[in-house]
Amino acid sequence: MKHCCEKMASHLIHGEIGLKYTPKFRSYSLDYRDGGSSVQAIHYCPWCGTKLPEDLGDRWFDEIEALGFEPGDPHLPEKYKTEEWWLNK
Ligand SMILES: [Zn+2]
Repeated sequence: MKHCCEKMASHLIHGEIGLKYTPKFRSYSLDYRDGGSSVQAIHYCPWCGTKLPEDLGDRWFDEIEALGFEPGDPHLPEKYKTEEWWLNK
């Protein structure tokens, strides 16, 4: 996965700020600082201003639900655990 600019790529690699990229959702987000697991989605790069690719989180839930799975199901097909399910579309 190629990110929009070197700053984005470098911050994601170093993880020093609360910026996160979730490959299976193609989602960029910021962590809340309350120690919980909530995140705030971002849609534009804070450094270069590029519009980030569409977040596929909702589609992920729709697809696994249509297949009869729930998030966290141990039988969830492998491709839904990574970016593989959307990469080849
Ligand atoms: Zn950028």
